[in-house]
Amino acid sequence: MANSEHTFTAIKPDGVQRGLVGEIIKRFEQKGFCLVGLKFMQASEDLLKEHYIDLKHRPFFTGLVKYMHSGPVVAMSNLADSKPGTIRGDFCIPVGRNIIHGSDSVGSAEKKIGLWFQPEELDYKSCAQNWIYE
Ligand code: ADP
Repeated sequence: MANSEHTFTAIKPDGVQRGLVGEIIKRFEQKGFCLVGLKFMQASEDLLKEHYIDLKHRPFFTGLVKYMHSGPVVAMSNLADSKPGTIRGDFCIPVGRNIIHGSDSVGSAEKKIGLWFQPEELDYKSCAQNWIYE
């Protein structure tokens, strides 16, 4: 039966600047994740502060918002039920330049999707799900 769990991921400014957008999206697609929304955008500092609100007391919070605001990101909403492999393992060295955001729970993903997308931007049904899931 097709999985209908949604997640939110974003390729961060370093992933965009390093020309890894195609490679990362290719991995999601090859795994069978279904893209239902995608936008190339420079996020406002207000959006990023809200996105990372749970980390606002951490010492790296200001640097994190600055890093995420330093250039465009690729925000994606996906249908998914498993971890997206080893993108950070293959492409990243320090935690402060880790090229991609991934949601860690259904509740968190729902919250982030609401921040980054309007419902009408996600009105898309894939026909491939029946070929990926039993
Ligand atoms: P993850 O993105 O792996 O779920 P967290 O939610 O803990 O990680 O942190 C969000 C983001 O904050 C990380 O992806 C990374 O960009 C940044 N970050 C986390 N820890 C550090 C750190 N010690 N120094 C700099 N940036 C950090």
